[in-house]
Amino acid sequence: MPRWFKGHIALVGDAEYCASPISGMGTSLGLCGAYVLADELSRHPDDAHAFAAYEKLMRPYVAQAQSVHKFAPRLASPYSRLGIAIGHAVLRIATVPGFKTLFGKILSPKADAIKLPSY
Ligand SMILES: Cc1cc2nc3c(=O)[nH]c(=O)nc-3n(C[C@H](O)[C@H](O)[C@H](O)COP(=O)(O)OP(=O)(O)OC[C@H]3O[C@@H](n4cnc5c(N)ncnc54)[C@H](O)[C@@H]3O)c2cc1C
Repeated sequence: MPRWFKGHIALVGDAEYCASPISGMGTSLGLCGAYVLADELSRHPDDAHAFAAYEKLMRPYVAQAQSVHKFAPRLASPYSRLGIAIGHAVLRIATVPGFKTLFGKILSPKADAIKLPSY
């Protein structure tokens, strides 16, 4: 969403920054978001500053997690019989030991755009 908060309301997790299920990042984003938001709220006297600090810290991490290759969600949710066949073939190859790491690198986005503060 273009904005993560309004007034006294801020969003966390899938409600705010739902990454593709194939990114494998949704749970990490939700947990990190809750951790950061909780602590920013305890450190700032007013919600607006706490929410802004939360968004500033989390947004690059979220953007990174959302940047999965366009073909990856299509591969996971094919629209046709051919798509299903291709998906199955790719998954079969992806389970071969050498390819597993390679596919992980291609399909999963990096997750290093945040340095979690030790509150
Ligand atoms: C197929 C699939 C595979 C996935 N694989 C991975 C993975 O490998 N790794 C990973 O990290 N993430 C994965 N995810 C994503 C991950 O499951 C989500 O990102 C994560 O669960 C989001 O947590 P959340 O608390 O934000 O939302 P949710 O888990 O959706 O929790 C929201 C809760 O709010 C409740 N709710 C909704 N409306 C109301 C209401 N009006 N009143 C009260 N309660 C309400 C819902 O019942 C729900 O319990 C996957 C998701 C899918 C669908």
